[in-house]
Amino acid sequence: MIPGIMTTTDTTFGDSGGRRNVTLRFPATEKEKQEILQAYGVKPKRIDQMHKLHGVREGSVCGDCRYLVGKHYDKTYFKCRFFGNSNGPGTDWRRKWEACGKFNERRS
Ligand code: SF4
Repeated sequence: MIPGIMTTTDTTFGDSGGRRNVTLRFPATEKEKQEILQAYGVKPKRIDQMHKLHGVREGSVCGDCRYLVGKHYDKTYFKCRFFGNSNGPGTDWRRKWEACGKFNERRS
């Protein structure tokens, strides 16, 4: 576990005597959590799986890959067609993620 990274958004800690409690709300959003994890060099499991299966394409990002598609609702959710789509956050993708070996450059 990385220091400072909590898996819950609201955790209360007390000292051994229970005299003082400190409530941490950290990270506040999923985006903040992802930014902090990235700063520590931790890859999200989804892209890590793709890198383990297909290797890393250095110098390219998923945003430039043909297999990345945007689904438009109230906002745009990106999905990797190669990885799959569960219609949920478990398959949401980020354009800035380092591309995997299946990268296929998008032509404009
Ligand atoms: S490079 Fe393309 S195939 Fe590979 S993870 Fe990114 S979007 Fe998916």
